[in-house]
Amino acid sequence: MIRMSLTVALLVAAAAPLAAQQQQAAPVIVDGRIAAMRDDALANDHYAWDIVEGLTTEVGQRLAGTDAEARARAWAVKRLTAMGFADVRVEEFPVPVWTRGAESAEILSPFPQKLAVAALGNSASTGPAGVTGEIVAYNSVEELRAAPDAAVKGKIVFIDHNMKPTQDGSSYGPGGTPRRSGPTLASKKGAIAIIVRSAGTDLHRNPHTGVQTFGDGATPIPAGAISVPDALQLQRILKRGQPVTLRLTLVSQTRQGTSGNVIAEIPGRDPSLAPILVGGHLDSWDLGTGAIDDASGVAIATAAAKRIMDGGRPLRTIRIVWFGSEEIGLFGGLDYRARYGKLPHYALLESDFGADRIWRVESQLGKDRLDEARRIGAALAPLGIVTGSFEEADGSDIGPMLADGLPGVGLSQDGTRYFDYHHTPDDTLDKIDPAQLKQNVAAWTAALAILAGPIEPNASPTKRKR
Ligand code: ZN
Ligand code: ZN
Repeated sequence: MIRMSLTVALLVAAAAPLAAQQQQAAPVIVDGRIAAMRDDALANDHYAWDIVEGLTTEVGQRLAGTDAEARARAWAVKRLTAMGFADVRVEEFPVPVWTRGAESAEILSPFPQKLAVAALGNSASTGPAGVTGEIVAYNSVEELRAAPDAAVKGKIVFIDHNMKPTQDGSSYGPGGTPRRSGPTLASKKGAIAIIVRSAGTDLHRNPHTGVQTFGDGATPIPAGAISVPDALQLQRILKRGQPVTLRLTLVSQTRQGTSGNVIAEIPGRDPSLAPILVGGHLDSWDLGTGAIDDASGVAIATAAAKRIMDGGRPLRTIRIVWFGSEEIGLFGGLDYRARYGKLPHYALLESDFGADRIWRVESQLGKDRLDEARRIGAALAPLGIVTGSFEEADGSDIGPMLADGLPGVGLSQDGTRYFDYHHTPDDTLDKIDPAQLKQNVAAWTAALAILAGPIEPNASPTKRKR
């Protein structure tokens, strides 16, 4: 039976963007049962909060390849099993493990003072004594690239930039470039160390860490990020025109270790059909407790799957993946791809952009599944979600498989405040707004209900006389 209230119909029409409306030949009717599941998640979901609260409290930070990440996998297996999912398992893979030690940055002259610094992933260690050198500053990676090697050799490079908050997170591309590309370039030009302005949009004195990888045959050098207020302070000091000397101490260790993906399933009624993958990443950076990055992601995807399971048995198998070692180089996504990437998947979905409300849905389901993509858009519109492109989806761990051409759906979260906390000590549970978290679960539940095919309600429990 197809039902749709007038209110919902009006909301669908109001929230659909013009481009999407024009592409729609006829109004899309939302299945009443799917609308009810969506609205119940919006009002009542507690599964997502329970996961993000439990994981951040009982495990805390989960740096890739460490004992903490192993504890997180054990926690995940226990929780997913207790929630009633089938075939809960861990698929391990080897990873390089980088761990942080003591770190400090101190201007020795002309105005002695400390700066707030955090080492970037894969930074070389300075050893406890640190390194001391004169700062040479650039406003971008391009400026550093254009500089003669002689200007950089033997110095400590500083790269500044000005990252602004954006809803879609697009400023993280340019804002993250000094972190991603600066260390390799500085090393090749003979720098003894590098500090970059954090890829962040806050004015708190928290440095933002993140991965960088020395490529192109570059010798690893110590590489750190200073907080945004410290970058502004350093700018003012440099403007005074005198040579600035910095002592930088970034102690770290590197070894080999083990990571893994935690996988669980809701078996579909037809096991011959391609599964739907939903997930996020289990590992986090070591400074906060990884609440918005990405405990909330695994929580949202898992809560939605659980709500489908509560409704009965879907036609297609839903596979939940809590990826390991995303932060240090997408190792979990690449391991999954090596094992399963050649097999058909009905859709891939990943949540990895915090816990704030979803504002847009995009998909790459192929030309013959446009109706299905529009039905997802119509089901999400009452949540204030606009329909974007039918030709793209995104996700970190699933990114390589989406690029391979596997189908996917992307539910875009509002990233306006995401980079205030991202990869800092401030990525903690209190940054999650429970109401917005529920809106995420509602959107995921509706999208998943459409993708998973008709859900056959569970038989009502038979009453037994005792
Ligand atoms: Zn993430
Ligand atoms: Zn991250």
